[in-house]
This record gives sequence, C-alpha cells and structure tokens, in this order.
Amino acid sequence: MKKLIVITGASSGFGAAMARLFNENDYPLLLLGRRTEKIEALNLSGEIMIRHADVTDQDELSKAIHEAEAKYGATDLLINNAGVMLLGNVWKQSSKEWQTMLDTNVMGVLNGMQIVLPEMKENHHGTIINISSIAGFKAFQNHAAYVASKFGVHGLSETVRQEVSGENVRVMLVAPGAAETELLTHVTDDKALSEYEEWKQSMGGITLDPKHVAETVKFMYEMPQEVNIREVDIAATAQD
Ligand code: NDP
Repeated sequence: MKKLIVITGASSGFGAAMARLFNENDYPLLLLGRRTEKIEALNLSGEIMIRHADVTDQDELSKAIHEAEAKYGATDLLINNAGVMLLGNVWKQSSKEWQTMLDTNVMGVLNGMQIVLPEMKENHHGTIINISSIAGFKAFQNHAAYVASKFGVHGLSETVRQEVSGENVRVMLVAPGAAETELLTHVTDDKALSEYEEWKQSMGGITLDPKHVAETVKFMYEMPQEVNIREVDIAATAQD
C-alpha cells in the first residue's frame, strides 16, 4: 500500500509538478501552501488533502501534517520544497528580504523535519527530501542571502542524514538549476532581475522543466529504503 507523501509549496513550480506526478501514481498526498486556491486549481483527484500551511509557522504545519496522518497513516515522505528567492546586492537589499529567505528556506525545512522525524525514527522508516539549489554549493552574484540559506539547507541535510541513518531513515537533497517557475516573480530589484534574465539568455534561454525535477524526486524516493541517493544536482544541460 502506498504511504503518505507531504509536499510543502505545492501551489506552483516544482511543488505543483511533484503533486501532479505523485497523484498520477496514486500516492496519498498532503499538499501544503498559503495559496490553497492554486493547489485546488491543479484539479487533482484521489487521496488528496489540501491545507493552508506557512512553513515558518511550525504549529500550523504540524496541525496539517497530523490531520493527514490521522487519515492516511504516518508520513513516509516529506518534501521540503517551499522556498523564496529574492535577489539584490547585500549593501542595498532590505534585511526584511534576507529574513524572509532565512525563515522560509532554512527554518521552514527545520520545522518540517522536526515534525516528522520522531515518528520516522520510531518506525525505522521514512524519507525526507529537501529541495535546495545549485546555489547551495556555488555562489552567484546578487544572491548572497539566498546562497546563505541554501548552503544552510545542504549543511543541515547532511547533518541530519548522519543522525538518523542508523535508524533506517533517509535524508536526501536535490539541488536544481534554473527553471521556469514563479520563483522570480517576487524579486523586487529590477536590476538584479534583468541580470538574472541576461544570464539565462546567455545559456540560450533553456532552463529545467519542473517535471524533470519531479521525476528525479520520485526516482530517489522509490529506491529501496536501504538505498539513499544522498544528493542530486540537476540542471539544464546548457547551464554553466
Ligand atoms: P515557486 O515560486 O513557483 O514555488 C515556491 C513555492 O513555495 C510556492 O508553492 C509557495 O507557495 C511556497 N512558499 C513560499 N513561501 C512559503 C511559506 N512561507 N510557507 C509555505 N509555502 C511557501 O518556485 P519554485 O517551484 O521554483 O521553488 C521551489 C523550490 O525550488 C524552492 O525551494 C526554490 O528555492 C527551489 N529552487 C528553484 C529553482 C528555480 O530556478 N526555479 C532553482 C533551484 C532551486 P505559497 O505562496 O502558496 O505559499
């Protein structure tokens, strides 16, 4: 029997692509985001629960996950996907934007892990897949706080992997390259945004299709529990 998968940030981009793919494959899903109407608009059917959850609010996240677990059983896969990328030079970007990225990209991941790990450890079964970025191991101009947050995701993922591997719990990390999603729509610095667009054009404007990230995540998860594909970085072939 297929077990519960929880996806944060399921309302657009990679999260929506993963929701579609796992739904097509009949997994029970808890789909989370703040814009629940966008998750509803994916028009998925079957064993689906959609709940409002801001990943920076551990109580709200925990309530939604426990409600889904009461219906579908223990979480077997948590995909910490929700994230924000706000660009700008460190000498002029607002500290509010740094805080949003650190709260969402780092605290959000820690919050999710803390909620599901006790039961996964007890069950000696379960998987967490954290969606980081190539900016989690490589610097990019205009990305200081984002890079800091995603280097953080790499570090915390590997730390927790070591802590729980002895209990047959897997922590995996996916580091995608540039993709067409809603990620750039929140950038407030026009110059940084146009430099990003120029960088994409320098690679022929070819970026990752979110469905390929979804397929990668599914492949990693469906490996036997005793196999951990610890880290994958995936980008359009044309990306530098
Ligand atoms: P999108 O902007 O399309 O999706 C981001 C998702 O995160 C949305 O569903 C949004 O949902 C959710 N989200 C943002 N803040 C919060 C919050 N506080 N609480 C709950 N959900 C939140 O971007 P992507 O699909 O591209 O991003 C997904 C992940 O992939 C991110 O972690 C991003 O850093 C990473 N990534 C993206 C790349 C790209 O080029 N697109 C490259 C490398 C990594 P809602 O607003 O409804 O809450």
